[in-house]
Amino acid sequence: MAAPARNLKEKDSLPPRQGFCQKNTVSFPLFYTSLREYQYYAGETPVALMYHHLERCPVTCGPARALFVSPKRFERQLAELQKARWSVLLPGDTPQSRSLLLTFDDGYQSVFTQAFPILERYRMRAIVFLVAGHLGNRNLWDARLGYPERRLMSKEEVLGWIGAGHAIGAHTISHPDLCQLSRKQAREEICGSKKALEDRFGVPVRYFAYPYGRWNPWVVELVAEAGFEGAFTVHPGPYQPASHPLLINRLAARPRPRNVPSYWKGLRAFLGAHLRKNSPGNEPMGGGRHEIPVIR
Ligand SMILES: [Zn+2]
Repeated sequence: MAAPARNLKEKDSLPPRQGFCQKNTVSFPLFYTSLREYQYYAGETPVALMYHHLERCPVTCGPARALFVSPKRFERQLAELQKARWSVLLPGDTPQSRSLLLTFDDGYQSVFTQAFPILERYRMRAIVFLVAGHLGNRNLWDARLGYPERRLMSKEEVLGWIGAGHAIGAHTISHPDLCQLSRKQAREEICGSKKALEDRFGVPVRYFAYPYGRWNPWVVELVAEAGFEGAFTVHPGPYQPASHPLLINRLAARPRPRNVPSYWKGLRAFLGAHLRKNSPGNEPMGGGRHEIPVIR
């Protein structure tokens, strides 16, 4: 089903213009490590958390460290949610206080081997955004960034994930920066990934995540045209799918920074890797300077 037609006004959840925090608004955490810290910053606002690798970060992984959460920490995070009686939603569920969503990008095998049993133990559900053309393969798109190479979930593992009641979403066919493609190429990546996953797994694929968190107005239009009901960015902010269903905020779950200087160094390196000069969508992690697109 296509996203409902609506005009968005200026006050509707503008993504941050620079960096991670909106100025002159209630402060929002830059990343998520524990419920205790998150509550301190953001009260009981629902949030969608974003994970990548579920393993201890290798010593040499540099700025990619932000993408690794150890299974031990992940389990601790779920345990404290359960203890505090927070509920875990899937996209499409009605947002409520004391709730959050768990999302995994790229579909690494560690999500199946490490996160999956922990989710089962705590009876929580999650969504994984799959790179449709690389199932069972490796994250070759990260090679140019020097990020660690890891295996991705196989088709059989995805079937096991779905069979246990978890959801899948699309993350394109080959994980490109959509803002760098022609409209035709981007359409193939966006529509093609939805179709490929639905054909392969026989379930509706209603949600999309922008690779590298990068979007611009016509990319968002293509996501609407493909029939996605919701799409996730990497802008930190509350989970408010109603304000713009194709630009839903997410908060990165990551290890605790060792100290403030190393945190900023890592963050700048991570963002710098994704910056493109002279690109219509060259703001850090998305398109904050763009007009908010109208969804048709
Ligand atoms: Zn990705």
